[in-house]
Amino acid sequence: MKNLIYAFILFLFCSGQMHGQDKIEVLCSASMLTDIAENIVGDLGVVNTIVPIGGDPHIYEATPRDAQKVKNAKVIFINGLTFEGWITELIENSGTTATTYTVTEGVNVIASAEYDNSYDPHAWMDVSNGIIYAQNMKNALVKQFPKVASTIEENYAKYEKELEDLNSYVQAQINKIPAEQRILITSHDAFNYYGKKYGIEVEAIIGISTEADARTSDVARVSQVIRDRKVPAIFVESTINPKLIKQLANDNGVPIGGELYADSLGEPDTEAGTYVGMIKSNTDVIVSALSSKIKNEDVGNATEKESSKTPLMIIGIVLFALLLFAIIKLKN
Ligand SMILES: [Zn+2]
Repeated sequence: MKNLIYAFILFLFCSGQMHGQDKIEVLCSASMLTDIAENIVGDLGVVNTIVPIGGDPHIYEATPRDAQKVKNAKVIFINGLTFEGWITELIENSGTTATTYTVTEGVNVIASAEYDNSYDPHAWMDVSNGIIYAQNMKNALVKQFPKVASTIEENYAKYEKELEDLNSYVQAQINKIPAEQRILITSHDAFNYYGKKYGIEVEAIIGISTEADARTSDVARVSQVIRDRKVPAIFVESTINPKLIKQLANDNGVPIGGELYADSLGEPDTEAGTYVGMIKSNTDVIVSALSSKIKNEDVGNATEKESSKTPLMIIGIVLFALLLFAIIKLKN
């Protein structure tokens, strides 16, 4: 009987440890961060998200339910670099005791081309930065939950290997696109880190945030690039209205190469439903669309138009000469 009481006390003590202090509860601003965090947390707890799948974190409007989530969290992971600028106020007003960590800490940031002293937030697009995100999360969780540190370290090590494989995969795939066709045209400028890392030029109609509207001059600039470079395809994004890209495609006779995931994961049961899947899906879509041969008929048409001009010019010159000859004859 005594043993049974001891066992019961031990059980209460252990379950108190797991479900009390050491149960990890994380809140992330965006879905990419949530998936990375889930890989590190594993069975040790739960990870929640503020911006739902398909939502745009640049312009998200927080709800009272979000304030409650922030209040209940123990650890909050944000991207920073003004990706989710609204979150500072949300955290401040919630009265939470959670510790907030910025997961882009230590990333080699790309400066914004549009604004002084501001940086491009889309660092996760380069998988080596994804590894830094995971590392920052791991370090934060080990610090907050030291009793389960070894499991957190194990989960991280396994995931890091997966990310390294993904990094190699992306590079190998991008290398398959003919060099002159490595140009990625999207709605908003979310692929700078991706382009810089894997060697693909990027152009977008709007800047690194989705807050600003497209300007006519930007549409004209991108149209020019499509025509000058004979771009094989352009791309729509899952969180942005595709209207402008569709119009650009129509106006320039260029196909839409597919849908890319920039600021949100895809639905949970789809390929792009995880961070690894999102980067892989983007890469496969980009490589498939940009590797296609530029349509011969287009090139043929252009040459045909060019060559059909020559006989017209000759006829013109001959007629002009005849006219001149007639005038001179008449005067004489
Ligand atoms: Zn974005």
